[in-house]
Amino acid sequence: MTAGSEVDAGRALAWLRELAELTSDEGGAQRIAWTQTWARGRAWLRSRLAEIPGVSVHVDAAGNLWATLPGESSRSIVLGGHTDSVPDGGWLDGALGTLAALECLRAHAGESRRPLTLRLVDWADEEGARFGRSLLGSSACSGRLDPDEVAKLVDQDGVPLADALAVHDVAIPRMLEAHRELRDVAAYLELHIEQGPVLERLGLPLGVVLGTFGVERHRVTVLGSHAHAGATPMDSRRDALVAAARCAVAFREDAAGGEDVRATVGEFSVSPGIATAFNGRCEFSIDQRALDRDVLAGLVRGARTESERIAAEEGCSVSWEEIQRIDPIPFDPKLIELAGRVVAEVAGASRSLPSGPLHDAAEMATQVPTVMLFVRSIGGVSHTKEEDSSLDDLALSVRALHQLSRQVVAEKATPGPLTT
Ligand SMILES: [Zn+2]
Repeated sequence: MTAGSEVDAGRALAWLRELAELTSDEGGAQRIAWTQTWARGRAWLRSRLAEIPGVSVHVDAAGNLWATLPGESSRSIVLGGHTDSVPDGGWLDGALGTLAALECLRAHAGESRRPLTLRLVDWADEEGARFGRSLLGSSACSGRLDPDEVAKLVDQDGVPLADALAVHDVAIPRMLEAHRELRDVAAYLELHIEQGPVLERLGLPLGVVLGTFGVERHRVTVLGSHAHAGATPMDSRRDALVAAARCAVAFREDAAGGEDVRATVGEFSVSPGIATAFNGRCEFSIDQRALDRDVLAGLVRGARTESERIAAEEGCSVSWEEIQRIDPIPFDPKLIELAGRVVAEVAGASRSLPSGPLHDAAEMATQVPTVMLFVRSIGGVSHTKEEDSSLDDLALSVRALHQLSRQVVAEKATPGPLTT
């Protein structure tokens, strides 16, 4: 190990400020994918990468930017992030992962020996802020994107996605060619802000992400019979709203009893919905999430049974219709374990937690061994300019990513239990 191999967290933080200054206004970060401001951020990233000796840069068929620091083997460890932001976004979402990866690459470039190749990827359009399709670049790379489906997308001004991409030399029918980037990838690592309150509540700066939640979303219809608010005695009502409201409370209690599960009644509508009658019909959405497929299935089953019981007690009937299903995506167990050890070493303690939001890492986890690190978010706030983490936590997170990348290189370079 040469002296040049140490990571300089302060440099990564200075870069974060530089990028924010270049691409933000008084509302916050404005690096919406496929815009001039985003491209300006990318050009800046290229010039920082050009300062690292031995690094070559190219953009793949889906618009993802790859930087490669060759090692003795072409087998690579990929460190990822995204420089695109939502409108009026924060300075850390996506940018932290990318610029921490940049600093790690710089540190690895100073190593006297590099058994594996190190790569940085800046995913294109993680946020989906303009066209409503998130994880665009990473899902093209994983091969899970349907080009015909996204070809129909237009932004609020009626600009087709194809036209916006063409400005940046990306053609939708060719996007899946980005998959070839994964040819020789041994592991994918991503550092991201938590964007939620869990680490703050635990009093921990860093955490290891277990994977991303699976989602089951249903529309539930409760049918009773509406009648006059004055004429109908209380004991002879079939009030669909009361049944539905009791369901919402029951679902919340069910989920509160489980670890790392969620249940949310979001949409809610009643009919006839007038002040002088109780309601004969109520429709609502129920969104349930869990990291484990069986736990999620059990949560849905439990809620259905509960809703049938409550509906019967209220003299109503209930029916469920599936709206959307997303499979849980667990990260690599061995990398989770290794990351836990690294985080405990760097930050004193480690805790693992699921990710509520989706991330590019979820796309990668379907293809290559993947793990993510979270850093504590102040107040759990994100996607606004108030998004922040303490400088101490950020510095720890950069050191943890570097340490993790070194250990993964060591593990993957020598045949052993981690080699896949
Ligand atoms: Zn992000």
